[in-house]
Amino acid sequence: MTDLLLRGCVLPGRPRLVDIAIADGRITELLTHEPGVRAPAGERIDVGGRVVTPGLVEAHIHLDKALLSERLATGAESVLEAIRMVAEAKRGFTADDIRQRASRVLDMAIVAGTTAMRVHVEVDPIVGLMGMETLLALKQEYAPAIDLRLCAFAQEGILQTPGTEGLLRRALQMGADAVGGVPYNDRDADQHIDIVFGLAQAFNVDVDFHIDFFDEPAHMHIRKVIDRTHRTGWRGRVAVGHLSEASALPAVEQKELAEDLAKAGIGVISLPATDLYLMGRNDDINPPRGLAPIRRLLAADVPVALGTNNVRNPFTTVGTADLAHMAFLAAVAAHMGTPQDLRALVDCLTIYPARILRLPDYGIVPGCRADLVVWDCERLEEIVTAQPFRPWVIKNGRVTIEHERRLRPRWKEAK
Ligand SMILES: [Zn+2]
Repeated sequence: MTDLLLRGCVLPGRPRLVDIAIADGRITELLTHEPGVRAPAGERIDVGGRVVTPGLVEAHIHLDKALLSERLATGAESVLEAIRMVAEAKRGFTADDIRQRASRVLDMAIVAGTTAMRVHVEVDPIVGLMGMETLLALKQEYAPAIDLRLCAFAQEGILQTPGTEGLLRRALQMGADAVGGVPYNDRDADQHIDIVFGLAQAFNVDVDFHIDFFDEPAHMHIRKVIDRTHRTGWRGRVAVGHLSEASALPAVEQKELAEDLAKAGIGVISLPATDLYLMGRNDDINPPRGLAPIRRLLAADVPVALGTNNVRNPFTTVGTADLAHMAFLAAVAAHMGTPQDLRALVDCLTIYPARILRLPDYGIVPGCRADLVVWDCERLEEIVTAQPFRPWVIKNGRVTIEHERRLRPRWKEAK
């Protein structure tokens, strides 16, 4: 028995309309749409020739430090200033405060069609395990609408902030799904990277670094991460965010780096809102954009995700947690405007982040988990170009969001 039938869907790469049959949380069948045919189903939704994609996957977001702009007077002028400002604000965090801000962002993301996300949760002597405890509770509470994967993240460094390694260990014992570091914010980047890989091996979890987040290629810690990925056998289990410095390398070195990343199975998460906001501040004229070289990475078969990162805090003072905005930004900033580019950008919100997070049974074929988004558009590219709203979002085969809009152009009626 079909629980839910989505009628008349436009699916990427399929010339004809499709009906998607769903039972027990999974896609059971894709049927060629026949108008008027009424197959039995618990619930049927007439999608009306709109685009349907798998649920959006947010590969990189900070919920614990989101929505701080309301209590801070300014944004930051640099990455390190943003880290300092948030460290100061963090001293005033309470569990209830984190829960409320994180919930607001989760609610926004779910309306926008996000059905899975990796959350970087700060674990350090300032906030202790308060963020981890709060996010573990939210993971349960929000499970009917979104899968949360929690990455225990050492934003304040590990070696320069004694006690952090022990706290990371505790967070992993509590159930963190991944471990994350930030080698540029510590006194010995190599050792920092080794500690993070050591924890990943000890707890058998994936690794996610904030890395090389400056205008000039002065750090390039990514090379050490590639080396450690091979040595530990963590191929396919490592992701890096930002990687802005790579865009300042000569083209031939960018190409070599992209090939090395592909060989190591390392996913790259570009964070266009934060990268555009914080990079390029040292140049009075012609500032660089500071985005990872998305096109070159994709050309080398590196999985590239576009992530939100921060929502309204000193790192990024704007944001709604709608991933379609990140594709829009990348289309403009990374010069990706052809139909093929625009479709690739949709992949950067769906299949690539799903691969980076190693989500099982992701996609729109029979057997996959029924996590789906219906977009108010008829062509896939419009997801990027026109930012349509999403009338229905489905998680595990159940409708989680039904969104209606009513527009009445009264000025036209008056004519
Ligand atoms: Zn981040």
